[in-house]
Amino acid sequence: MLNFSAGPSQLPLSVIKKLQEDFKNYKQASVMELSHRGEYFFSIYEQAIKDAKELYNLNDDYEVLFLQGGASLNFALIPLNFAYKRALYANTGLWSEKAIKEARIINKNAVEVVACSKDQGYSYIPQFSFDEDGDYAYICSNNTIYGTQFKSLPKGSDKLVIDASSDLFSKPLDFSDIAMLFGGTQKNAGIAGLGLVIIRKDFLKNCKRALPSMLSYETYSKNDSMFNTPASFAIYVFSLVMKELKARGGLENIHELNKQKARLIYELIDSSDGFYKGYANKKDRSLMNISFSLKNEALNQSFLKAASEQGFIGLKGHKILGGIRASIYNALSLEEVSSLAALMKDFLAKKG
Ligand code: PMP
Repeated sequence: MLNFSAGPSQLPLSVIKKLQEDFKNYKQASVMELSHRGEYFFSIYEQAIKDAKELYNLNDDYEVLFLQGGASLNFALIPLNFAYKRALYANTGLWSEKAIKEARIINKNAVEVVACSKDQGYSYIPQFSFDEDGDYAYICSNNTIYGTQFKSLPKGSDKLVIDASSDLFSKPLDFSDIAMLFGGTQKNAGIAGLGLVIIRKDFLKNCKRALPSMLSYETYSKNDSMFNTPASFAIYVFSLVMKELKARGGLENIHELNKQKARLIYELIDSSDGFYKGYANKKDRSLMNISFSLKNEALNQSFLKAASEQGFIGLKGHKILGGIRASIYNALSLEEVSSLAALMKDFLAKKG
């Protein structure tokens, strides 16, 4: 099976093997059966944070928090904790649209959308800068549906809040302007059920509202993300993914490989004489999600059928766009992506 799902998606093979071993050893209680207050779980939790910070090269100005509620809970928690006068947003796709919608529910008057690419079906990343007066400045760094990705972070604010759900740990990041980076872990960093939040301590202090405990980032910070029972198994899987990324030599290496993988598919699209049509504006193309279509719907369907017969799964495009989407997150190897390229080449030779 070759898994190109957009999320939940493929885990690194080393992680799957480790989990299989854990399950086999049923006589010994596993992380799923042990108290989150115990030493065993705490050491997993601490190491996971240490590794995540090491991968992103973060110092003690930053905290790593684990929440439940995936990425989406943060769409509401961010404005609830931090939107007072001006909450700046860039709208580059469905996921930022959803974040803006939630922010308007919390504090309608504060929300300012400073850039938007809806005019061309979110097929590009607009050029813009934020300004420093905002409570925060929000972007979605990789637009999972359309296959667009910010190549550099917008300027103007040192309180960037970034939904990085679909490009977490896929490349090194300069955190100087990042106040908070968050995402669901089910694509690049583990399994569903966990929201990862990396937050700058000075930004965390900007929350001036008295909030219900579970809705306040401060609660997670003060209680080692264990105010209530955390998603301990998902944190364990996250810790295994962090270990694997470190074993691969860190994010510079991962990024290089991700570029090579994406190039294989984009070059094929570009040299297909219009047989395959990429959705995203070329300079904004994502290294994680490649959305494309064939000349007509019948060919899309026939491609998906051929793919499925050869063991590929998860290639159907998001329902908003239709067509095909290949998600090539960290866990996919160059060989696996080469297999997709071979399938596309073969299909072009037969039907082009
Ligand atoms: N943001 C982005 C960029 C996503 O791709 C997704 C899920 N596909 C979400 C947010 C929502 O994530 P969750 O389901 O974990 O809430």
